Amino acid sequence: MEKIGYDEIASIFNAASMRIRENIKELSALDAATGDGDHGTTMGRAMDAVEKAVSESAGSDLKTLLYNIGWGAMCIDGGSTGPLMGSLFMGMSDAVADKESLDCEALAAMFEAGLAGVRKQTKAKVGDKTMMDALEPAVKAIREACDAGKSVPEALAAGAEAAMKGAESTKELVARFGRAKNLGERTLGHQDPGATSIALMFKGFAEAFK
Ligand SMILES: [Mg+2]
Repeated sequence: MEKIGYDEIASIFNAASMRIRENIKELSALDAATGDGDHGTTMGRAMDAVEKAVSESAGSDLKTLLYNIGWGAMCIDGGSTGPLMGSLFMGMSDAVADKESLDCEALAAMFEAGLAGVRKQTKAKVGDKTMMDALEPAVKAIREACDAGKSVPEALAAGAEAAMKGAESTKELVARFGRAKNLGERTLGHQDPGATSIALMFKGFAEAFK
């Protein structure tokens, strides 16, 4: 598959939502270890907003679809999760103006713009035990796959794999952001819930093409 369009972007978000929904309990359990235990239900609300935006955007264009998904996620209650997810999707929206379809280059640029959007919300970097530990490697892997001439599904599969590895790497890290920061060394051994959500979303993105 050389290019994807509106319908494929809508389906990758629905697939991501399904992956998150299957793991709401697990995500809350991860958060309970180092935080307040609400991450799963918060992500569930974010996915309600995503699914609603996908269904209400029918007939619009790619930019509007991603903007509506981002705005929906931005507006949920629940601490930093909504603004972070919202800025990811709204950043992606910025990169697809006037585009009806995305080749691998445009796909990589879209995810890079999403990452840039998140960077406006947080100073967290790889190694700080946050969603960035999954997001940055995923975006980088998608870029590298596209630069190596891979197809859109192959690039998304590479992104999913990198995100999962990144999320798993957070077990070895000490939290430097959010509520978990107060627990310091006690966060060692626990996988970051935000990074895990990102990994599940990228897994869904990739699975939409299987
Ligand atoms: Mg929480």
